Amino acid sequence: MAYDPDNIFAKILRGEIPCKKVYEDDHVLAFDDVNPQAPVHVLVIPKGAYVSMADFTEHATDAEIAGLIRAVGRVAEELGLVEGGWRLLANHGRDAHQEVMHLHLHI
Ligand code: AMP
Repeated sequence: MAYDPDNIFAKILRGEIPCKKVYEDDHVLAFDDVNPQAPVHVLVIPKGAYVSMADFTEHATDAEIAGLIRAVGRVAEELGLVEGGWRLLANHGRDAHQEVMHLHLHI
């Protein structure tokens, strides 16, 4: 599937739609999910234009991949989740009901 630059997370990355930012660095943006399913529900997204994990793992640079994974750990740490525990989840494609076609990891 081709990347649609008008998806909602692309708009958030361009600053066209607001978000409640939790963390940002050169490779990722993390922000509160607008419809939280848990007391803490944050989405971590790469800044690059990747539809899914398959797209990301095939086409992203090693630095982008390391940046995303390191950011997940850092966000969990900064949110104080490490001691109590937390879950990392990603929905990919139609059968998993992926709604936004820009790779995102749910914390
Ligand atoms: P999914 O694609 O099924 O993994 O889920 C997409 C997630 O994005 C859902 O949990 C939505 O609540 C969330 N979401 C959709 N639009 C926004 C937005 N503008 N800001 C923050 N989260 C959003």
